[in-house]
Formats: sequence, structure tokens, C-alpha cells
Amino acid sequence: MSWSLKGFSLLAIAAISFAAPTFSVSVNPLPLLPGETASVSVKAYTNSPPQGEFAGQPLRFVWDGESWVAFLGVHALTKPGKYHLRICLPSGPCQEMELSVAPKDYPLERLRLPAEKTVLLKPELVKEEREIVAKAYSTFSAKPMWFLPFSPPLKGELVVTSPFGLRRAYGNSPPSGFHDGVDFRAKEGTPVYAPAPGRVILAKELLLRGKMVILDHGAGVMSGFLHLSEIDVKEGQEVKRGELIGKVGNTGLSTAPHLHWEVRVNGVAVNPLTWLEKSFRPERPPFLKNQRAWLRLIP
Ligand SMILES: [Zn+2]
Repeated sequence: MSWSLKGFSLLAIAAISFAAPTFSVSVNPLPLLPGETASVSVKAYTNSPPQGEFAGQPLRFVWDGESWVAFLGVHALTKPGKYHLRICLPSGPCQEMELSVAPKDYPLERLRLPAEKTVLLKPELVKEEREIVAKAYSTFSAKPMWFLPFSPPLKGELVVTSPFGLRRAYGNSPPSGFHDGVDFRAKEGTPVYAPAPGRVILAKELLLRGKMVILDHGAGVMSGFLHLSEIDVKEGQEVKRGELIGKVGNTGLSTAPHLHWEVRVNGVAVNPLTWLEKSFRPERPPFLKNQRAWLRLIP
């Protein structure tokens, strides 16, 4: 009798260790929208991150204290429809699901540039600069440095002169792309502040973008500030939320002083204004949550 019980418990252990471990995946918010951000959370207690892909875009997971999380940017020109998400744990099991991208139409804007500025649109100059910026935006540091929704990069009332996603055409040519950031009206010399903690990965004067600063906020989330009149940070420097990084200007391919602020998530340009409302993270660092739990135990 005791022998057969032992046999049963051995079988039970074998069954547990060979069963595929389950894990849960949540995506927030749904449905996805072109030009917007979403977070993909995976609850799985593994030592190394899951692997994931959304519509051909590799996802990069970082540990967020309670789960693995990847931040996902939906390209502004994504057509509405169903797109494939696949997540696999390092040990092998995978989950697949179809995610809906809902429609979102962006209006068309025609820009007229002064003749001396159109020379800046020469393809070889555009390409060279695009490579410098793409290289900076391809930086990846695993630790997300922000907890709160971003703070506005300008103080006072924000006046949007050109929203994110606007389809753009120069002169009479067909649309050459879309506006990959948001433009705020501001006078030359207005201070520009870091919207979230980050590390300066680019602080440089470029032909089209003018004086530009790029901040790496971690986990593939970055923001860029263009056409500045002055840069007040150095590459490699860490900045706090609200720290001065530069001043508004009209440098590069710009027709009047303004601040162009762009946010890249996993390499994809997304609407920065959404980041002023949502952090896409638990709003409290996990250690603070635990502290509160401990405090509740103290009479
Ligand atoms: Zn702009």
C-alpha cells in the first residue's frame, strides 16, 4: 500500500514538472490606435525576459517589479485591422493573439518653405541626418526611469500649433510623411524642461532638426526636442524630471520659433500628448507599494 502511494506521488511530481507553465499577457489600452502607445505585460516569474513580436516589431521586455513589460508604439500609418502578437517564455511556451488596431484619420497640411530653407530638403542631407538620429534612437537601456505621466516640456498654457500625425506635403508635392511630433507655440528663448527623468543621448546641432536634444527614459521610451536656440545639457548627462535642457528657437528646417517635441516608443514615433496623461506603468514604484503594505501592519 505504502509503495503504491509513493508511486502515485512520484507520478504527480512528474506531471507538475512536465506540464507547460502558464502565463498571462495583458495589453493596455485596447483597441490599439495608429500613432499611440500601449504596454504589454507578461506575468511570468522567469529569470530572463520573454521574447515577443507585434506585427513584425520585436518587443523588448524589462522587469517592472511585478511583471515583464514591453512598451509598444503603433505606427501612425498603420491601417485598421487585426495584427498578430506572439509572446514566448525563455523555456519555450508561447501565446499568440490577434489585436485590433482601430481607425484614426490624420488631416493633411501643405507647408510652404522659404527658398533658402528648401535647399535643406536635398535627399543626401536628409539621409545623413536621419542616420544620426536613428542611431541615437536605437539606444536601449533596460531600466524605465519614469513612474509618473510626463510633465509638459514648457511652463504655462500649452498652445499646439501642429498636432502629431498630420500628413505633410511640401509645396505642391504629394505627402512625404507625417508630423512625427507635436509643435507648441513659444517665443525664442523660452526654457524647455525634461518631461521625465532620462539620460541625454544626443545634444547636437543638425541641418534640418536644428539644435536637438534626445533623452533616453529607459525601456525603449525616448523623447526629442528640435529647433532649439540653445542646448543646456551634455551627452551622457542624467537629467531629472523638470530640469532645464535647452531653449526654444528657430534653428534648422523651421519657419518660426516653436518647440517640436517627439516621443519614440520602441523606435516608433507616437503621440507625445498621451504621455502627459498616462505613464503606461504602475504609478507607484513597487518598493513604495510594499512599504505601504508594511505600514498597514503597524498599529
Ligand atoms: Zn514639428
